[in-house]
Amino acid sequence: MLDEKLEPIYADVLRRNPEESEFHQAVREVLDSLGAVVAKHPEYAEGALIERLCEPERQIIFRVPWVDDKNRVQINRGFRVQFNSALGPYKGGLRFHPSVMLGTIKFLGFEQTFKNALTGMPIGGGKGGSDFDPKGRSDNEIMRFCQSFMTELARHIGEYTDVPAGDIGVGQRELGYMFGQYKRMTNRYESGVLTGKGLVWGGSRVRTEATGYGAVYFVDCMLRTRNQSFDGKRVIVSGSGNVAVYTMQKAAALGGRVIACSDSNGYVVEEKGIDLDTLKEVKERRRGRVSDYAKLRGPGAVYIPNGRIWDVPADIAMPSATQNELTGQDARTLVKNGIIAVGEGANMPCTPEAVRAFLDANVLFGPGKAANAGGVATSALEMQQNASRDSWSFETTEARLREIMYGIHDRCEKTAEEYGAPGNYVLGANIAGFTRVAEAVRALGVI
Ligand code: NDP
Repeated sequence: MLDEKLEPIYADVLRRNPEESEFHQAVREVLDSLGAVVAKHPEYAEGALIERLCEPERQIIFRVPWVDDKNRVQINRGFRVQFNSALGPYKGGLRFHPSVMLGTIKFLGFEQTFKNALTGMPIGGGKGGSDFDPKGRSDNEIMRFCQSFMTELARHIGEYTDVPAGDIGVGQRELGYMFGQYKRMTNRYESGVLTGKGLVWGGSRVRTEATGYGAVYFVDCMLRTRNQSFDGKRVIVSGSGNVAVYTMQKAAALGGRVIACSDSNGYVVEEKGIDLDTLKEVKERRRGRVSDYAKLRGPGAVYIPNGRIWDVPADIAMPSATQNELTGQDARTLVKNGIIAVGEGANMPCTPEAVRAFLDANVLFGPGKAANAGGVATSALEMQQNASRDSWSFETTEARLREIMYGIHDRCEKTAEEYGAPGNYVLGANIAGFTRVAEAVRALGVI
């Protein structure tokens, strides 16, 4: 139930942002947690502070023309939503996927603002992307698209203004083409303008692994509150992209048995454990599908086309593909099969009904805002290294990441306790993130 002070704010968000259901969902989820905050701190309900947090500072939409390999002109739409810069330069990834619309980018930018606040680092929130579909495109087509995209984006970003990174469909290859075009246009080697860069051109060690590793650290912290660990647990991870692969790697390193992963066509189950070398070969080098992985592995790996990975009985689930991929029905199946912990590697992968089902069943539930913040936190470490023209070792960087994730876990845990909901990480993450941004927004006046 929404607090009566917050109801008109939400009604206004619905009215002013029609047909942006994912954005509505993300705002609603945060507002649902804020009732107790405005009761305790009425000052946060004044000066249209919450309304300002729901309105992006700037929304940029642009045409991206490019020429495909058959010499045809293609037109895509580019977006950058600069949501909130009270804590630092806008920071958040770029997503290339045919489903991208303004509402998608707004939901991601809104989430990002609170996530970034939760890390304790000096970064604001933003997000961007395009409805471009990289699947099946040649390397040259990807390069021409990225160059055209950056030709417009360049005027809106900068190391002190807005620092994009990767997300779905945007990895090191795409970031390389975009950084190259930015460098060419500006005649500056401004390393800090993008993060997720390759190691030899200004990237940070551990950035590739960071979101997945961080999500596992977060779940590990949650498990410890109940004297449990990954050791010997059956783990399922949806997706097979950047976040999923490194989630699997760290979960296995902590003793978990990762038995299933997926892509948008289906999932694969391998009872003795997914072989990460083969998976990486298929996904990172051949840019193939999990069905190719199953073929390579032989009869031990079973591929289920169009199936629901959440039907596989497991102790720990890490949804790491995309928003709303785990429904209320999926959550009930997982609960029935004895799930003990869920950590969101993706952004908003569980529907509100699924989240409720987990909380009602007393399943440890780590929301994306907290659990997947390791990626952006390591991006902020990359910015630090770029600013000081330094490059840290893997061990140093991973130790910083681990410390940051433990810090986020503690902040969520303590905040949930303070507001009378011990163990509710959704409430803890929303309130802790909100409070930090709100303090800064208040301090900076009406701007
Ligand atoms: P990738 O592009 O590397 O991988 C995405 C994976 O999810 C692929 O396996 C893809 O399968 C699957 N997927 C994507 N869209 C859909 C869909 N509509 N339905 C089913 N499956 C889908 O992206 P990332 O791993 O970088 O990102 C995954 C999630 O993690 C996203 O929610 C992202 O916002 C979030 N995230 C990423 C961070 C990062 O550092 N990269 C940081 C924090 C959050 P297919 O190949 O079939 O499309």
